[in-house]
Amino acid sequence: MIQLYVPLNFLGVLYREIKQSLTDIERMFGLLGEHREIEDKPGAPALVAANPVVRFEDVRFSYDGRREILRGVTFEIAAGRTVAVVGHSGSGKSTLARLLFRFYDVTGGRITIDGIDIRDVTQASLRAAIGIVPQDTVLFNDTIFYNIQYGRPDATWEEVVAAARAAHIHDFIERLPDGYETRVGERGLKLSGGEKQRVAIARALLKNPRILVFDEATSALDSKSEKAIQAEIDRIARGRTTLMIAHRLSTIMHADEILVMDQGRIVERGRHGELLQRGGLYAQLWALQQREREAGPGEGEPAILT
Ligand code: ATP
Repeated sequence: MIQLYVPLNFLGVLYREIKQSLTDIERMFGLLGEHREIEDKPGAPALVAANPVVRFEDVRFSYDGRREILRGVTFEIAAGRTVAVVGHSGSGKSTLARLLFRFYDVTGGRITIDGIDIRDVTQASLRAAIGIVPQDTVLFNDTIFYNIQYGRPDATWEEVVAAARAAHIHDFIERLPDGYETRVGERGLKLSGGEKQRVAIARALLKNPRILVFDEATSALDSKSEKAIQAEIDRIARGRTTLMIAHRLSTIMHADEILVMDQGRIVERGRHGELLQRGGLYAQLWALQQREREAGPGEGEPAILT
């Protein structure tokens, strides 16, 4: 009996790992249950992305073949730099991330990493090179240790603790009744939005990807947690090629370039100061958020672009 149990148990663990890693990514992109038909080209090589440059070249995209969601989007994220994307809800920001992950193929133009079309490399190598800090991290009904280690399932205890420290969640974990063995998730301890995001940051740190996609949470965080998380994001983004999908303009003031999207097009681009001076959509959005911020807590959700 035990002879059968061990391999079956192993298969169970393996299945759980594969399923869960897909779940988190798919949840982020709102893709659960969708049918996709992306396949590797026969003999496609693995992506080598040591210090990657990411380029979107005149990218067009439609989910249904009728409504164009991206209408000719061109930008470049230089190696190790951060490009932020802002714009109203539905302007196509998350679609950029979905295409970079190749959950869908572009319908026009191309996306390259170091000059290589992402359709010409294996999907496994593409996704291994990209880490995500999603808006709303899915916690599995397991220990907090497992939930962090899931960023890199072969990570040791020491590596998990080091990542938790770097993500400023270690002290919190140590105070829990069972420390790293505390069960979290729907059937365990519920973590706050900020704590969950720190788990996501610890996972991303463990994975140590060269390309980082950060999808800022729209949910309310108090301003102290927001500042602390921002500092952590800035730290993990340093030296990585980073795409930040932002809802609060205050979090992207230091981005190397800010793209302002409207109805599937980039309508403005530049650094924070330049965009403010320009007096266009970005300046309007900024003024709106400042007003809402001044209205202070208790006046509803913090100002976010949704
Ligand atoms: P938000 O700030 O609310 O997250 P966004 O700018 O990220 O919005 P996207 O999620 O990129 O917007 O969506 C852009 C448009 O594409 C929206 O009009 C949306 O309804 C549409 N869309 C998104 N996913 C799908 C899908 N799977 N099938 C069809 N249309 C979709």
